[in-house]
Amino acid sequence: MNLHGPSRSWQSLPAAQQPEYPDPQALREVVADLASYPPLVFAGEADQLRTRMAAVARGEAFLLQGGDCAEAFDAVSADQIRDKLKTLLQMGVVLTYAASVPVVKVGRIAGQYSKPRSSPTETRDGVTLPSYRGDSVNGQAFTEAARMPDPQRLKRMYHASASTLNLVRAFTTGGYADLHQVHAWNQDFVKSSPSGRRYEALAREIDNALNFMQACGADPEEFRTVEFFSSHEALLLDYESALTRVDSRTGRLYDVSAHMVWIGERTRQLGGAHVEFASKIRNPIGVKLGPTTTPDDALALLDRLDPDREPGRLTFVVRMGADKVRDKLPELVEKVTASGAVVAWVTDPMHGNTFEAASGHKTRRFDDVLDEVKGFFEVHKELGTHPGGIHVELTGDDVTECVGGGDEILVDDLHHRYETACDPRLNRSQSLDLAFLVAQMYRE
Ligand code: PEP
Ligand code: MN
Repeated sequence: MNLHGPSRSWQSLPAAQQPEYPDPQALREVVADLASYPPLVFAGEADQLRTRMAAVARGEAFLLQGGDCAEAFDAVSADQIRDKLKTLLQMGVVLTYAASVPVVKVGRIAGQYSKPRSSPTETRDGVTLPSYRGDSVNGQAFTEAARMPDPQRLKRMYHASASTLNLVRAFTTGGYADLHQVHAWNQDFVKSSPSGRRYEALAREIDNALNFMQACGADPEEFRTVEFFSSHEALLLDYESALTRVDSRTGRLYDVSAHMVWIGERTRQLGGAHVEFASKIRNPIGVKLGPTTTPDDALALLDRLDPDREPGRLTFVVRMGADKVRDKLPELVEKVTASGAVVAWVTDPMHGNTFEAASGHKTRRFDDVLDEVKGFFEVHKELGTHPGGIHVELTGDDVTECVGGGDEILVDDLHHRYETACDPRLNRSQSLDLAFLVAQMYRE
């Protein structure tokens, strides 16, 4: 990997959702420093993920992508990272075993620090301040000092991402993710929850299968480690392009801040800077598609981001809302498929289903999340296309941010543990419930 000049072609185009830094010189200095830092991922790993996503696009594998809406600097702790990873590993096992499909595991992790906002300002009790845009930009506290964008936070994002990724790599390759640990991941959970008990029954079956294989003399290396990738929304283009480098193997540009990056619903303008930036990098790319997306929008994004029609390059992450997915999705899938493209279709059942509870908490109903996934599967079944995966906001902590689930959380419970820095996340029990239900839909 050579440290060549990053791709800056996006700079002449309108870039939505960028912070307004009070001191542009300070930003330039930070960007210059970031450009000298080592890559967080190896370009070859991004290629590996593109190959895995190609299998998803062709209908041979399923994507599980999940993590916080917004990671927070003060949540970079061993326990929180481990519990998030554990939740994803448990979901992965449920999907792999119960749906009998290879599962590609990607975290919204180690870089998911930047948030697009529907309003640039927030008003409380007559006071108006800039909105919180994620820990990479400003602080959550409602004070003028905290809300002032600070470019030094970009460096903190890099370091927080590096230490998170380091621990994730240690867990996934150093024995913690060994399939023989399938019970251990559940130990703190099994007695307390219906989904934990359901998981335990599945883990027993896996144990039996592993014991049988071992008795036959087979103990494959694949069971010892887990392939796990990082991803985040490529929102702050100064940061992303400072971490974009020419790969010495291929001479191509890679954004080495993560294996996969995606473009959000608010920044996918065809003539905008985010699409331009993503068109220049070789990583697998996701694009969020909301309910106003037209087939022409999808086709134009395809031409910009996947001109060579390369399976695995482009993933459409559909977030229509439970009430719209059955209406809006078929036309998109039909026209994209008719164009000859092989993209991965993934459902984000979270972002189209957010509402404000009477208590003022931003929340989502587990049943709406499930219904959007159901609608997504129905559409693909009808069209004979592949429901390629789920993209969800979750945490390993027992938070009370979304209502419903087998271990039911009521609207009146929301205040107990409402800790998210941005959107409401599924807790561990709700995440496992979802994995069981998705596995069942996949089999049917
Ligand atoms: C998100 O993924 O947190 C997000 C902001 O999503 P979207 O771009 O789909 O609104
Ligand atoms: Mn979100």
